[in-house]
Formats: sequence, C-alpha cells, structure tokens
Amino acid sequence: MALLLIRNDKNYEPWIEALKKADSSITVVTPETVENPDEVTMAVTWKAPQGSFADYPNLKAIGSMGAGVDHLFEDKSLPGDVTLTRVVDEKLASDMQEFVSALCLNHIRNLKVYSALQDHSNWKPTPYRRAKEVCVGILGLGTLGQAVGTMLTNVGFKVTGWSHSKKEIENITSYSQNELDAFLSEAEILVCLLPLTEKTQGILNTELFSKLPKGAYLINVARGGHLVENDLTEALKTGQLSGAALDVFNTEPLPEDHPFWNNKDIIITPHIASMSNAASVSSQIAKNYKRLQKGEELMNTVSHDRGY
Ligand code: NAP
Repeated sequence: MALLLIRNDKNYEPWIEALKKADSSITVVTPETVENPDEVTMAVTWKAPQGSFADYPNLKAIGSMGAGVDHLFEDKSLPGDVTLTRVVDEKLASDMQEFVSALCLNHIRNLKVYSALQDHSNWKPTPYRRAKEVCVGILGLGTLGQAVGTMLTNVGFKVTGWSHSKKEIENITSYSQNELDAFLSEAEILVCLLPLTEKTQGILNTELFSKLPKGAYLINVARGGHLVENDLTEALKTGQLSGAALDVFNTEPLPEDHPFWNNKDIIITPHIASMSNAASVSSQIAKNYKRLQKGEELMNTVSHDRGY
C-alpha cells in the first residue's frame, strides 16, 4: 500500500520529509515516482491537475493538504465512491484568528488611513470607534469561523455568525440559513469564512452588500470565488461599503493589471491568512492513512453532497 502526494507546484520534499517523520513505515510516492499505481490506496493533494486520480484503481480516500476542499471538487473526474478528508489544525485556526483580528482592529483604528496620510506628511487625527461598539458578522461558523469569533469576542467586539445550522457558542449570536437578512442588517464588519460550494459561489454580491449597514467593511479570507469583483468595486464607489480586505482572489496570483491593486479602499494580501504547514499537519494525515489501512473510520471527513 502507498500514500500518493499530488501538488500543482510539485513541492514534495517538505511533505515527504514531514510524513516520514510522522510515521517512517509509510510508503510515500508522487506521480513522478510511483512504480505500481495499483498500490496507491490514499492520495493527499493540493490543487491536483484535472483527471489526476484516474490512474489509481484502488484509491479509497483522497485528502486535501489544507482546510479548503473546493480544489477537490473542481476535478470533474473525482471518484464518487472515495472518502474525502481535509485538514483541521489548531495552528491554522490560531493563524486565522490573529489575521482577522488584526484586520478588524486595523479598520476601526484607521491604520490604513494614517498610512496613506503619512505619504503626504499629513497630521490629521480621525475619530475612531471602540471594539465593543462594533458588530462583526462572520459568514460561516465552522472550524475557522468559530475560532475567529471567539477571539474577536475576547478582543471586545460584538460578534454574530451565519451558518447552515444554528450554533450554541458563548457570546456569539448565531443565525441559521434562513436568517441571512437579519444577520446582515447588523454586520458592520463582514468576515467571509464560508467554504466555496455551488451555493456560496458569488455570495458576496450587490444584493448582499445592500443588506449591510451603510459603510460596512468586508473581509474575505475564504475563497476568491465568493466575491463578485465588479460588485465590490461598485459598492466601494457608492459608499455602501467603506473598504475591504481581500486575502483570496478568483485568479491567484492577482494579475499585475488588476484594478484592485490601485483601489485605495482595498487591502490586498497574497493568500497568507493561514497557511497549511507540512510539519504541523502531517501527523494527522499519517494517522488517517493508518486508519484506512486498518479499515477504521477516517477523521475530518468531507461530504460529497454538501461540498464541504
Ligand atoms: P468548515 O469548518 O467546513 O465551516 C464551514 C461553515 O460554513 C460551517 O459553519 C457551515 O455551516 C457554513 N456553511 C457552508 N455552506 C453554507 C451555506 N450554503 N449557508 C450557510 N452556511 C454555510 O470550514 P473552515 O475550515 O472553517 O474553512 C472556512 C473557509 O476558510 C474555507 O473557504 C477555506 O477554504 C478557507 N481558508 C482560507 C485560508 C486562507 O489562508 N485564506 C486558510 C484556510 C482556510 P454548518 O456548520 O451548519 O454546516
């Protein structure tokens, strides 16, 4: 039996090293080194090229090397009968907590405004709001949304969240699927932490923005496909949104001539909110592979039907 790694960037060395360190008994192969495709029972991937799984007839599980799984479903030849898994990692959650908290505080304390004023040696105090006066609404109260929400309540923000099913989380007001409008009406900072699925594709659009309080601030740290880019540009022009921080984009890297680069109301970061690290996630991948070998249930599974 062998564990197959497939990455679009072919950066295999750190993953092979970390998996071997986690469990030296595992045979790890890549599409370039595999000798007998029949031996491969599990593949762990990041953005595998279309059709990558067709050559492995005994594949029983496919795992994402990160928390997001939309890249798995992009492959239309993804076998329907394999178990899908993803990474759920404390480090990923705490990195996301720190990043979103930094952006929320940056926004309410006008740090981007001062950075622009500094370019013109302009000393201009601006009124600010305190965290306890501001409501942050989180779209998606899953692993990362809950972690971020909890940290934001500790910082002092009022926090609400929207998810498919209602949650019971201390100090966070939870809204379910059919309560989106009520949730949006309060969200002065809107954080997107939804998975990218057929239902959430393009959810950050003009109609949704129009239901937010005037001048709301958008933070998208989920996936570029959630955002309708022209609708954001328009909402910033009309003042319906006062600004946005985007970590993820439809095309990554963001093309040099993309209009977002020159939009003074947008903060751009290169998909670094919370990065999967081979050393920190390899032990759970190795454990899952061992479970598969023993015929046990896998951890952190993903639903084919829901797409997350
Ligand atoms: P998760 O645990 O699967 O949570 C997803 C949440 O979204 C759940 O609360 C789910 O509701 C809710 N949801 C899904 N579809 C919905 C719908 N149609 N309507 C309402 N709620 C819906 O995901 P996660 O691990 O927190 O990851 C969240 C996102 O972060 C993903 O898009 C991932 O790709 C992204 N991410 C980004 C970075 C980065 O560096 N920028 C790093 C890691 C992850 P239920 O709980 O009721 O099912």
